[in-house]
Order: sequence, then C-alpha cells, then structure tokens
Amino acid sequence: MKTCAFITLGCKVNQYETQAIREALAAKGFVETIPEQTADLYVINTCTVTSASDEKSRQHIKRVKRKNPRAIVVVTGCYAEADAGTIKNIDGVDYVITKNEEAHLAEIISRDTSSRVSAQEKIISLQNSNDHEITEESIYDLKISHFAGHTRAFLKIEDGCDMYCSYCIIPYVRGGIKSRRPQDILEEAKRLIHNGYKEIILTGIHIGAYGKDTQGNNRLLDIIQMLSNLSGLERLRLSSIEANEITHDLIDLVAHTKQICPHFHIPLQSGDDFILKRMNRKYTSSQYLETLDSIRSKIDSPSFTTDVIVGFPGENDEHFENTINLCKNAGFSRMHIFPFSAREGTPAAKMTDHCQPQIIKTRRSRLDAVSKTLAYSYKKRFLNTCVKVLAEMERDPKTNKLCGYSERYIKVLFEGPDMAKKSVVSVRIDEITPSFTMGTLQ
Ligand code: SF4
Repeated sequence: MKTCAFITLGCKVNQYETQAIREALAAKGFVETIPEQTADLYVINTCTVTSASDEKSRQHIKRVKRKNPRAIVVVTGCYAEADAGTIKNIDGVDYVITKNEEAHLAEIISRDTSSRVSAQEKIISLQNSNDHEITEESIYDLKISHFAGHTRAFLKIEDGCDMYCSYCIIPYVRGGIKSRRPQDILEEAKRLIHNGYKEIILTGIHIGAYGKDTQGNNRLLDIIQMLSNLSGLERLRLSSIEANEITHDLIDLVAHTKQICPHFHIPLQSGDDFILKRMNRKYTSSQYLETLDSIRSKIDSPSFTTDVIVGFPGENDEHFENTINLCKNAGFSRMHIFPFSAREGTPAAKMTDHCQPQIIKTRRSRLDAVSKTLAYSYKKRFLNTCVKVLAEMERDPKTNKLCGYSERYIKVLFEGPDMAKKSVVSVRIDEITPSFTMGTLQ
C-alpha cells in the first residue's frame, strides 16, 4: 500500500487543485494519511503570493524530507511555477510539477514510485517525457467530486488574471484568464451535489473576468443561473468579486434567487484614491461605495466582506484615515487585513517610498479594532431572528456544540444532534458577543 500526504498553502484555488490531485492519486491506489505521519509520497502545493509564502513552502519541503528521507517529494503550485529552478535545487525534491502538468501528476508519479532514480533524472525525464501531452488545455483536466475535510465545496470556474495589480505576482505566475467550459462546471457541480454537498462556492483567481477569454460567449451570470437551478443545491456563494465587475444584472439575479447567498466578498485593498491608483486597481473609493449602495438597495442586509492591505508604499496618515472611514461607511461584516509585504518581481516592490514596519504594525492594529467593531455591529442586527445555517461536519472543538455559517456568513454555535451535520437547518440567534454567536436549533 502506497501512502500519500498533502500540504496546501495559499488560496482556495490551491485547495481545489490539491483536491483534484488527491482524487487522481486515490484512483492510482494511493491511500491518504496526514502530513504529520510518515508517508511514501508528499505533495506540497505551494503559494508565492509573498516572499514569506516562498519561505514557508521551502520549510515544508525540508520538513517532510526529514520525516521520511525515502519519501518522494513532489512540489507543485504557484511557487513551483514561479521559481522551479530554486526548488529543484532543494535537497530532497523529486518532482517539480508546473500548473499545466498538474492534471498528469498522478500518472507521472505512479509510473515510477517503485524505481529509485535520482531526483535530477526524474526531473529531466519528466521534462523530456512524451508519454502525456502537456498543453495549456491540461489545466481544464483537473476535476473533483468531493472536497476532503470541508462541509462546503469549492468549484473552480476559471484560472488566471490579467489585472496586474501592482503588488501582485499572480498574473505573471498563472497567466491570463482561462475559463472552464460551462458543461464541465455543470458536471462537476452535479457530482458534488450527488456526493452530499449542499453549498458550492464558485472559485477562481478572478471570477469576475469569467468568459473574457471566450469573447463573452460564456458569462458568469449564465454560470450562476445554470447552477442555481440544480436540484439538491441549497446554496451557491461567490468567493470574491471586484467592485467594478458587479453589474445590476448580477445584483438582480442574487436578489431574486434564493439559493444565492446575499454575501459579497469585494476586495477593497485601500480606501484612498491615490493609493488605489498606485495599486493599479480599477475603481475609485466612491465607485466602491456606490456598488455597495446598489446592492443594499435591492438586497436585505447584505453581508460585505473584504481584503485590505495596510502600509502600501506611499501610504501616509491621511490615506490611511480614508481607508478607515471607507470601512466604517461600508459596514463590513468581516475583514482580512494584510500588512503590505513586498513581492519581488512586482512594480510595488520597486517603489521607493515603503512604509516603516512600525507604522504598518500600528495601522494594522487600528484597522483590526475597526474590523471587530464593524463585525459585531453587523451581527447584532440578527439577534432574535432565525437564520439558515449549514451545520459543519465537525463540532466546535471548544464547546462541542454544532457550528456553521449562515447565508450571510455569520458563524453560529448551537446544540444539536449529529444527524444535523452537513445539512441546512434553521437556528434562532439568542446571544451575540464580539467573539461568538449562539443560537437554538428550531
Ligand atoms: S485581481 Fe489583482 S490581486 Fe487579484 S489576482 Fe489579479 S492581479 Fe492579483
């Protein structure tokens, strides 16, 4: 019996891709174990979004080799794509597999897990291999039917980005927009629903650009409509969408389709127009707020979550105050706050007016405090109301209660039987504090 373990760094798209590799290896007879255990094969799906992600990826590679020096170590993901040369030279790496080869990873590995050729030979043989045709199209071959360890399933509908935000390396690593065929998305959604997933989250690097590479023949709106009609799917959620890509048609569709969650993750990054321009973002602060207003005018209490970068080069106190004020106006229900970290190879890394680390730290904690206040005040409006919660497959480890997320992405804890797990239940919210929300199963 051959065992394998997975380590996934980075975003939801990487998690999706690990799942596709997991299923392909299972089909080749590999049995999964946790990364803390000794395995015959380790797949490390790396991230390169910051220099710290690269370092983390390298540490994982070294750690698994120490655990089992005889294990085969496969490195894939964005860091492998960006800097295969460095990874190949790390002692103990057997395969570096790029994005276009990922769909063939299981095939490549299972071919010679029994033969102990040197890492360099494997890499060379992989590069020269004609056994499988590796093309740009291969990226579409990744597919899933489960989402291991998750109650909700991510479904990747596109890859790549052509926005070139000045701090981001992703367009250089993953390339331009590649939209999956509607038929493939539909089949995958049906498989996930058949396997018991009640909620699907549409995922990609830049889902708002879905269909751009097909000259508009396929549209995000059509994909959402197609999936929300599927029987058995109780919830559809969008992972992240840019403010300038939220159209009135999309808002209307969300407003009139009960399966689509009234939750929008709209990256803000900065609330200041000078900084937004330097970031090469495609909206102004007032356009961002107008989008939220349009959504609010059609949808009851929509949930807005966001990402913000603090301490972008050139950000002064006034720019930062503009970000604070915009966040307060937006009334976010959850914020992910990232201290700016220069990514080598991006225009932002070359800017000369970087903020002092201490200033970034102070701004981050100020924005953290704002984020907590906003989240608490958003949640409070649901006190004594009933919400639909998708109960997670695992109980909350601290309280042993069931837990799950509402349509508006509020995490709720409640007493209930195991049979409620993985299903959508009605919960009345009876207690809200800044750190938790408690309810009663109806
Ligand atoms: S939209 Fe900007 S931040 Fe997001 S992946 Fe594209 S370039 Fe990077």
